[in-house]
Amino acid sequence: MTNVLISGASVAGPTLAFWLREHGFHPTVVERAPSLREGGYKIDIRGAALDVVGRMGLLEDVRRHSTDMQVARFVDVNGRQRATMSAQLFGGREGDDVEIMRGDLAEILHEATKGDVEYIFDDSITALEERPDGVRVTFENGPARTFDLVVGADGLHSNVRALTFGEESRFIHDLGHHISIFTVPNHLGLDRTEMMHPAPGRSVGMYSTRQSTDAKAMFLFTSPADPYDRRDVTQQKKLLAKIFADLGWDVPRLLDSMWDAPDFYFDSMSQVRMDRWSSGRVVLVGDAAYGPSPASGQGTSLSLVGAYVLAGSLAAAAGDHAAGFAAYENDMRPFVEENQKLAASNLKGMVLKSAGQIRFQMGMLRLMPHLPGKDRMIKRVTEPIRKAATAITIRDY
Ligand SMILES: Cc1cc2nc3c(=O)[nH]c(=O)nc-3n(C[C@H](O)[C@H](O)[C@H](O)COP(=O)(O)OP(=O)(O)OC[C@H]3O[C@@H](n4cnc5c(N)ncnc54)[C@H](O)[C@@H]3O)c2cc1C
Repeated sequence: MTNVLISGASVAGPTLAFWLREHGFHPTVVERAPSLREGGYKIDIRGAALDVVGRMGLLEDVRRHSTDMQVARFVDVNGRQRATMSAQLFGGREGDDVEIMRGDLAEILHEATKGDVEYIFDDSITALEERPDGVRVTFENGPARTFDLVVGADGLHSNVRALTFGEESRFIHDLGHHISIFTVPNHLGLDRTEMMHPAPGRSVGMYSTRQSTDAKAMFLFTSPADPYDRRDVTQQKKLLAKIFADLGWDVPRLLDSMWDAPDFYFDSMSQVRMDRWSSGRVVLVGDAAYGPSPASGQGTSLSLVGAYVLAGSLAAAAGDHAAGFAAYENDMRPFVEENQKLAASNLKGMVLKSAGQIRFQMGMLRLMPHLPGKDRMIKRVTEPIRKAATAITIRDY
């Protein structure tokens, strides 16, 4: 039996644990947070990833937790509605695609694995030492242990990647924008509605999903010129307040709520690009290896598919982990590249550069339902996403 240590219990980690266990491996998951991290933002599952979730027998459960978003409304500085569109089209979803809160998905994946996978919360790997018989792992809190393989499923700022491959600045590519998202009171009384207020170089959103009593505020903006410390939350909040200080609509109220937000998130919109995803007995999966950025809308799907392919490739390689890692990389890389390409073009529509571009976009959205070529125009938005999301065949292992 191969003992595998997985760092990170969000999407990629528990999915990998599920499939490794199915193939007869013995996975252990270590998560830095004291318990499963709840909430977060809404994420999409589409294309090949739906097939993976279906094979896990979790599709019904995932659908039951769908956000059920109905509509996106674009408002001006005075809160006057300028355009609307269906939430499905706004999210670039079609057909069976599902939108769910990241925390709900993590919970479903944890529930499906916790019975026979060892989860260690409130701990983190501090050192990895390759030995002939495996990897000696030292932890912040628990005693050192030896595992046959170690997997980094610990996200954009992966700890395992830093310990194995070095400085993250070599792999993280800033796409020129930042994103901040946090929970706010639902003072607009939104029900499965997304509000968007576009401004030149900036965009503010607020939404509330089915079942939630509060709302999320989302701020997108061209990367700040002022440098900031990634660990200094107060400095980040001050920066956000400064960048959005002159906007109208509900922005002042959202910024007021920011100071008490329990889950303030602030980061660059970045992609992880690496020449290889494994070194010796250590391998990366999900955002840690090939995070496509929130702008791609495909991070979760890549994590789900990547975890399935990695577990299957290791099983097919029957004990030769190097061959398993090579097969995983060979199958996943073209799929990853297709999906990473989505981010740059999506960003162009998410943050508009000038007032003229905003007026044009609002006008087009208002006109679209009445245009003879509307289906063709919609397809132009959804087709590249659908193509990228299905650019891999899910094999049986
Ligand atoms: C604001 C925002 C919006 C997004 N929107 C979408 C979307 O619409 N569609 C989509 O598909 N994707 C979206 N994403 C991306 C998606 O959330 C990620 O791609 C996906 O969650 C990646 O899963 P993961 O398991 O690889 O990493 P993560 O979800 O980042 O999880 C990493 C886990 O590792 C843990 N961890 C970190 N460090 C350590 C450590 N030292 N030791 C142990 N554990 C550690 C973390 O606590 C976390 O639980 C969005 C992301 C953000 C930030």
